Amino acid sequence: MALIVQKFGGTSVGSTDKIRAVAQRVLKNHLQGNRMVVVLSAMSGETDRLSNLALAMQHIPDQREMDMLLATGEQVTVALFAMAVKDLGHSAVSLLGDQVAIRTDSMHTKARIRSIDPALINSHLDQGKIVVIAGFQGVTEDGDITTLGRGGSDTTAVALAAAMRADACEIFTDVEGVYTTDPNICPQARKIDYISYDEMLELASLGAKVLDIRSVGLAKRFRVPVQVRSTFSENIGTWVVEEEKIMESMLVSGITYSKNEARITIKQVPDQPGIAAKIFLPISDAGILVDMIIQNTTDGRLTDMTFTVLRRDYDRAMDILKKVAEAIGAQNVTGDESIAKVSIVGVGMRNHPGVASTMFQILAKEGINMMMVSTSEIKVSCVIAEKYTELAVRALHDAFALDKENLPAEETE
Ligand code: ASP
Ligand code: MG
Repeated sequence: MALIVQKFGGTSVGSTDKIRAVAQRVLKNHLQGNRMVVVLSAMSGETDRLSNLALAMQHIPDQREMDMLLATGEQVTVALFAMAVKDLGHSAVSLLGDQVAIRTDSMHTKARIRSIDPALINSHLDQGKIVVIAGFQGVTEDGDITTLGRGGSDTTAVALAAAMRADACEIFTDVEGVYTTDPNICPQARKIDYISYDEMLELASLGAKVLDIRSVGLAKRFRVPVQVRSTFSENIGTWVVEEEKIMESMLVSGITYSKNEARITIKQVPDQPGIAAKIFLPISDAGILVDMIIQNTTDGRLTDMTFTVLRRDYDRAMDILKKVAEAIGAQNVTGDESIAKVSIVGVGMRNHPGVASTMFQILAKEGINMMMVSTSEIKVSCVIAEKYTELAVRALHDAFALDKENLPAEETE
């Protein structure tokens, strides 16, 4: 008898028919003798709809009341799900975050889970019930409702699986699992069978949207085996597990891209201690995140400084930097909003030199110019012109042979 946490996202519970189908699926697992804990999101589109209602009431909605409102989306789906199970002649109970005692800090709309008390859930499971818990929500010490930030139901599921020492945490979604790259732009993309937590963290932070990144960090910390799989098929999805559990580590496991950054260059900045702080402090004070930074020494006295920000922050960043440039005596500020960041990720890179240079060669062969590069132990990211994104992704996917089934190292010789 296994304890399984299953989470279903908004599209999986988007209508009463879909909720009934999900209930049938969970029931089947229950009848096979498993203890089932289910976490649900709100119906697809519901959280957006609720946010818009709030905006109609208050220009900047009160954060406590916002959580009170947003948490209702998940209350609807868990209640309907429990009804569906009962209608099928079995027992279930729906619970909200505060009933389970999913305790969080008091950062409304982006709260973090501090603790979960599994006692109530266990007692319901002991009585043979399917326990269905509202995702995305918790409660503060003072009893105020909180939410965990958009996409937070994944985190609820992994945190529950960790607290209850579940045998597995299955995240059901509308795709078959984690893909080697976006199948919409590269038809050769393949579903990955196993991927390590670290690779998944990189892929999630670089733009792959299938799992919320906070849930991956949590899964890694508590070693929760997570499977991402489809609600609409019986196929095994992608297991996200410890690196040691994966027989063959790929040189490159996945390729990802993001089109939501912009590039800014400050030209001819005096090359002195303290200048970088003068440039980046006003940016961070404005709550603008900076990703890649490159400093280029031109002649020992003056330097160019290039970095990327999110595209939605671009105009604000440019305004701030024009003032900064004047104050520090830089020549000028230029920017480019039509860039993309293409990245390759794989734990195999740790022990193999030359992966970055292979990437550069592949891009060069396609005539794609690289504007910036950044690397970590297990990833290489290149900034290129946005219009070449699809070409770059396909060329890299092909050259690193990601369309091929991954064979154990010996057999690929
Ligand atoms: N319903 C919330 C959202 O749409 C949480 C979730 O679905 O994970 O962001
Ligand atoms: Mg989601």
